Amino acid sequence: MGLLDTPADIMKTDLLGMTLPQLQQLASDEGFPRFAAKQMCDWLYKHRTDQIDRMTNLSLAQRQRLGEIATIGRQTPVNCQVSKDGTKKYLFPIGDNGFVETVYIPDDDRATLCISCQVGCKMGCRFCVTGQQGFHGNLTAGQIVNQIFSIPEFDSLTNIVFMGMGEPMDNLDAILDVCAILTQPWGLGWSPKRITVSTVGLIPQMKRYIDECQCHLAVSLHNAFDRERLDIMPVQKAYPIRSVLDTLRQYDWSGQRRLSFEYTMFRGLNDDIAHAAQLVEALQGLDCRVNLIRFHTSPGSPYQTASPSSIEQFQRFLNNHGITCTLRASRGQDIDAACGLLAGQNLR
Ligand code: SF4
Repeated sequence: MGLLDTPADIMKTDLLGMTLPQLQQLASDEGFPRFAAKQMCDWLYKHRTDQIDRMTNLSLAQRQRLGEIATIGRQTPVNCQVSKDGTKKYLFPIGDNGFVETVYIPDDDRATLCISCQVGCKMGCRFCVTGQQGFHGNLTAGQIVNQIFSIPEFDSLTNIVFMGMGEPMDNLDAILDVCAILTQPWGLGWSPKRITVSTVGLIPQMKRYIDECQCHLAVSLHNAFDRERLDIMPVQKAYPIRSVLDTLRQYDWSGQRRLSFEYTMFRGLNDDIAHAAQLVEALQGLDCRVNLIRFHTSPGSPYQTASPSSIEQFQRFLNNHGITCTLRASRGQDIDAACGLLAGQNLR
């Protein structure tokens, strides 16, 4: 339920998260003039209004009717943990299904927001706290956009990454709507270069995403040996990483849109030179970069953080073999940022 909603509002449509074509349909259904849809878009996405009453260039009758059938759908976070490095982890309630986390990561000249797209996740990656919680539902486009709009730091945001709870390609319709809201002129009008959507490699949905969206793509790879990847990522059975990479080779990645691979470093599992060499071999012919991630171990996890020397050696090997490889800075470690712990504790 939104901040300003009443129990009677529960069955109403949330306007936040609707695209211009969807608002045009709503306007048409209600007998509003077509331009009312653009006016609603401006109020929702340019002025970020949280009340229908404030849409003052709609007629009073239109606002009254809109109030009968719809709410804005804004929801403030119920918790915020602040790390000593400035990272903030917000907790948003999602209907009766539980909670999701949203992580704000300020840096020198950038501020990235890591957002969630599902309550829990079906993918079951063994190292992931969210994956061990099972699946509790998809977020609507409005619930995803709300994570961006309802934090106090909205105006400082430079980048959005879909790398929080859930698998974005498993909720693709909503993700495509959100990307349209973020990038279209009737929405926020951001460059697609500011947005990165991740996936474990659900091939059919990933192809549709590449065909329909210009935002960056990040594929969670974590191990280029097929059998070893299967040990940590069940999705490898349905969509082997080789098939994912073959699919990606069918597209041109030399333009503005960036293809990257996420590689979490686990001690003794995927952090030696043999794994680096296998990764180089697997990525042959792909215009891409690799982001190494230090694993943050969590209570009860059998996985350990790779040593700084093995990470450095791995990174150097990739760079020496022509693959741009960066190490993502560890942020928010003291608040368990980006591991689903807070939401897991609050699942109901
Ligand atoms: Fe889901 Fe991502 Fe966790 Fe895998 S790592 S279980 S895809 S949330």
